[in-house]
Formats: sequence, C-alpha cells, structure tokens
Amino acid sequence: MAKMTVRDLPVAGKRVFVRVDFNVPTDGQGAITDDTRIRAALPSIRYLREQGAKVILASHFGRPKGKVADEFRLTAVGRRLAELLGAPVQKLDDCVGPEVERAVAAMKPGDVVLLENVRFYPGEEKNDPDFARKLAALADLFVNDAFGAAHRAHASTAGVAAYLPAVAGFLMEKEVSALGRLLERPERPFVAILGGAKVSDKIGVIENLLGKCDRLLVGGGMANTFLAARGLNLGQSLVELDQVGLAKELLARAGDRLVLPVDVVAAPAVEAAAPRKTVGVDALGAPGALGPTDKALDIGPATVARFEKEIATARTIFWNGPMGVFEVEPFAVGTTAVARAVAISKAFSVVGGGDSIAAIEKAGVAGRIGHISTGGGASLEFIEGQELPGVAVLKEKVRAL
Ligand code: ADP
Ligand code: MG
Repeated sequence: MAKMTVRDLPVAGKRVFVRVDFNVPTDGQGAITDDTRIRAALPSIRYLREQGAKVILASHFGRPKGKVADEFRLTAVGRRLAELLGAPVQKLDDCVGPEVERAVAAMKPGDVVLLENVRFYPGEEKNDPDFARKLAALADLFVNDAFGAAHRAHASTAGVAAYLPAVAGFLMEKEVSALGRLLERPERPFVAILGGAKVSDKIGVIENLLGKCDRLLVGGGMANTFLAARGLNLGQSLVELDQVGLAKELLARAGDRLVLPVDVVAAPAVEAAAPRKTVGVDALGAPGALGPTDKALDIGPATVARFEKEIATARTIFWNGPMGVFEVEPFAVGTTAVARAVAISKAFSVVGGGDSIAAIEKAGVAGRIGHISTGGGASLEFIEGQELPGVAVLKEKVRAL
C-alpha cells in the first residue's frame, strides 16, 4: 500500500487518536447482535497497546443527527470491547471538552479510552474544522482504521488529518491493499461477478470494472434489465425500465466480456412453495415461456455451469451481489453454486456487500475467500475507482531513492 501505516511511525508513549468503525448492529434494545466490526479493530488496538501507546478510540454509532441521544451511546460497545480485548476500556460520556481532556491527560501507556459517539456533534458530519481541531487536540497521531466510514469526509475520518500526522490502521491497510490489488494489478484472467437487485445501485461499479476485468458475469435482478435491453420479454421480473438504455450502451461497449444468464428460474411468487420453472433466455418472449405473473428469481443451471467455467479459470475474482433472491431457499441455488465455485477456485478472491457476505456465510465457505470486504458503501465506492476521503488524507509512504 502506498499509504503509511501504524507500523511506520513510533507510537510509544504517544496519544493516538484511532478512528474505528464500531457502528455495530443491535437488536433495538441496545444488545449487540454482531460484533464483527469490533473484532476487526482489535489488531490495531492490540498493536498500539503492545507498543506502549495511549489509545483513544472514536467512532460513530447510528444516526443521532448531531444531538445527544441515549440510545446511540457507545457504552455497550465499550463493554464488549473490554471483553474481547481482555483489558479495561474507559468509556467516556463525551468526545471533546474538559472532562475528556482530563481523562486523556491521566492515561498511561497501554491504556484504552473510548470516546462517546462523535455524531452527537453536528460538526462531525459537517467536517467542521473547529470540531476536528478539538478532537485532534486530544492526541499526537491519527490512525484511521475505519474503512467502513472512509467514503465520508467527516471530522473524525478526514478533518483531524489537517492537525495530526495520519496513518492507516491494520484493517484499513488490509482493505485498501486487497481492493487496490483488484484495480491496480490483477492477475489475469480477472473475473468480476455482479448481482443484486438493481443496475442503478451499481452503475459506477459496472463501468469501472468493465475497464479492468476480462469477464463480467452478471446475475440477479440486475441481469433482467440487461436481458430486457437485448429485447427479451421478462414478464413480471424486476426490470428497471429507465436503465434499459444504459444497459444497451454497456452491452455494446463490453462485447463478449459481459456474460449474461443463458437461463433463469422463474416463479409466480417469491415463496418457497411457488411452482418454479427453468426457462432458456432465448425462449423469453415466446408464448407461454413465462406465465402472466412469472418473475425471474434466480439464474438457471446452464448459467451456473457457464459461470463456474469462467470462475474456475480466473486468477482474480471480485464478487458483489447475489445471483437470485437467495433469502428464499429455492432461489438460493445459483448464489450458493457461485459461492462454492469462488471458494474452490485458486484465484485471489474478494467478496463485498452485506447480502453477498451473508450468502457466503450461509454457504459455509467464508474461510476460503481471499478477502471479505466489510466496508459496504466504502468498498463499492473504492471499486468504482473513487478516492475515499478517509484514505486520501493518510500520509504517503516515502519511497527510497
Ligand atoms: P449486496 O448487499 O451484496 O451489495 P444487493 O443489496 O445489491 O447485494 O442485492 C441483494 C438483493 O438483491 C437481495 O435482497 C436479493 O433478494 C435481491 N435480488 C437478487 N436477485 C433478484 C431477482 N432476480 N429479483 C429480485 N431481487 C433480486
Ligand atoms: Mg444489500
């Protein structure tokens, strides 16, 4: 990675402001339902403690919209972090101000302080320089480990870098190197697999990947719009009529690099008990191919075979978006097959997107994926080729002459 990391600067005895992404899901009563994001920050926190740094953690949590709101306090997160870390975590009730300053002044090397939700202040999302300066005044160094928030230019993700030397944490480094490897120097063939509901969600991703990959396999609801652009009749399937023109253009530009389903599994309802049929796409539009209420809800077996063949020869794979309505068992077949194919391939594989990760986990193959990108929106913006503000502010590595 071209950016400096926490390894590149001496941190012993230093006060280090670490932006983490502790925006964990909860059950609505305040109990944490998935602590993946807290676990993901542990390597940086452990390293800093071992090196004798004073670790000042900051995160957003939910959408309190610039006001103090008890349901968005980080208290439960602090408790879980202490358990996972096996060390005390001093959770403060504010993120700036005299009490915070006093607590930080009393810190010893190896201590961990968790500041209160930075979004309790409107200056956070506005990237207000005054607020950023107050946060920065607590520390000597800025470590950004919140990849999931790196696509936002907020005070604690980008603004503080105006006042402190800024470097990447280990999670940030891992994400940026894995995603960067796809875009900068993929081993070929580079096969991208895109699915999910809509083309409109992922136009930037499609456009950028088309310029980088050797094959773009398209499945899921998104494929319907491309099939419609080929003049096929998709019945009651999810088709974005306003994207058909763009899909036509992309098809013309991509030529045979863009691979569409050759068959689909259709049913009149998104229900496990609904009668299903497999229809070859060339038959779409022929009378009786699809019933009046039929929708394409998964890729068919011939498509799975075609995609498996491409995946098997790939050296680099990026996958985002399920191949069908995988939440309903009978329509998860295509997605599960693709998950397995990606898992057994020898390629360097990266999977991103909340639903795609859920599908990988459901298929039981998460351990065989090269990199599971937990960044959500940040991962997709990175793949679009955009420079993320939280990455842009980090110091460049000094290259030896
Ligand atoms: P990710 O979270 O991995 O980025 P998306 O949110 O873009 O993925 O897409 C996932 C959603 O797409 C799922 O809810 C799934 O049901 C839906 N989907 C996939 N295929 C179809 C289809 N053929 N018709 C309607 N919805 C679909
Ligand atoms: Mg999703």
